[in-house]
Amino acid sequence: MTSLRRRTASLLASSLTASLAGAVAASVLTAPPAAAKPDTLFPSMGNGGYQVRSYDVALDYEPLTNRAIATVRIRAVARKAMNRFHLDFSGPEVTAVVVDQQPAGFVRRGDELVVTPAEPLEKGRFSAVVSYDGEPPEHTDPDGSTEGWVRTTDGAVAVNEPIGAMTWLPSNNTPGDKARFTFRVSAPAGYSVVANGELVETAPHGTGTTWTWRQDEPMSTYLAMVGIGRYDVTESSTTSIDGRELPLWFFEDSAVGGARTARQVLPEVIAFCERLFGAYPFSSGGHVVDDAYVGYALETQTRPFYPPGGASTSTVVHETAHQWFGNSVTLTDWHDIWLAEGWATYAEWLWSGAHDGRTPREHFDALYARDADDDLWSPAPTEFTDPADLFGEPVYHRGAMTLVVLRREIGSRDFRRLGRKWAAKHAYGNVTTRDFERLAEKVSGERLDDLFDDWLRLDGKPKGY
Ligand SMILES: [Zn+2]
Repeated sequence: MTSLRRRTASLLASSLTASLAGAVAASVLTAPPAAAKPDTLFPSMGNGGYQVRSYDVALDYEPLTNRAIATVRIRAVARKAMNRFHLDFSGPEVTAVVVDQQPAGFVRRGDELVVTPAEPLEKGRFSAVVSYDGEPPEHTDPDGSTEGWVRTTDGAVAVNEPIGAMTWLPSNNTPGDKARFTFRVSAPAGYSVVANGELVETAPHGTGTTWTWRQDEPMSTYLAMVGIGRYDVTESSTTSIDGRELPLWFFEDSAVGGARTARQVLPEVIAFCERLFGAYPFSSGGHVVDDAYVGYALETQTRPFYPPGGASTSTVVHETAHQWFGNSVTLTDWHDIWLAEGWATYAEWLWSGAHDGRTPREHFDALYARDADDDLWSPAPTEFTDPADLFGEPVYHRGAMTLVVLRREIGSRDFRRLGRKWAAKHAYGNVTTRDFERLAEKVSGERLDDLFDDWLRLDGKPKGY
């Protein structure tokens, strides 16, 4: 995510903000996902007992009334026998829940949908189909920003970081449970639908069209995106460093415009990131520009979202770097968000240094010159306890500074190896800060616990760097 408001407020502080070989990719894709646990920052999100394999979202949308009639099929694996299970959902009226082809009981408790199957689930695979009908709500974050199902002038866009997916997707709404997604979204004639992954089909539906998008690489719910509106659609492609042809889909609200630079620069930005971090981890790219005035850009998987005026080249670099750091290599718990935002911000600094702007070192020095009582130094990047600090400056800037310090400590060669190894080893997986520390120590052969304590955990301005 890149916050435009924060960006405006801190201009002085600089801007905020593989295919692995087929066989490897296949084995990663079929590996069991990491264990899902409730998130420490959002304890009501995420559910125990099962893991999701795929979401299949069939949604019929009426732009004039914002009504969504949806059926969401969830394929999951129960880790143990269960009499009931929870989904995270704050959306409209649930009209039916079916588990393994049988009608199931359900009650709603706050943002939880508690499902009681007709027969207890045994350990192993099961399917749940949740139907709902009504207007999906927006969700207001602890920092006052808006996410979830956000209405636009001519439709809606779903942007979900950190927990807004629950407004339209009954789900295990925690980054630690990744799944495949299929979106079959119907809209009236004259409207287009965009989502993550690849467009596999458009088919007539009444007087309108059903658009089917598929995201085959695993995705966390916070990175899912759906946009419905009157878009100018541009298709192009670029070639990845490993020779794959990546289709690029750009959906831009006709009334907003202004994203031509972002569209044109994307192949160069992907190539820049590939030289640093290895092959682009997904099978397609592009972006969505819509008039949802949420105040941030978002790295929605394969297809970042930009609000009006929010697609500067620096932001494109940030959201593109997230495809490696955040989207492919994903935090398990929101406390580790610096692993995504620190790297994305650092990538912006690398880009500016390579294009006649400030180098990472110059960015670092400008920030390090700040007073000891500056908000940059507290809370430390992994130590915040208030969800309102999730997108705070320490996560972005002190996170990126940590990488600058690490590079100075272990040397450019090892640092580059570390970045590439981190992206490859944990591709499509979930990680913790400790995983990163262990890999940094392994790659460099150095003990780095003091460095990581000083920069990630200890409150106040780190000394001696
Ligand atoms: Zn970001």
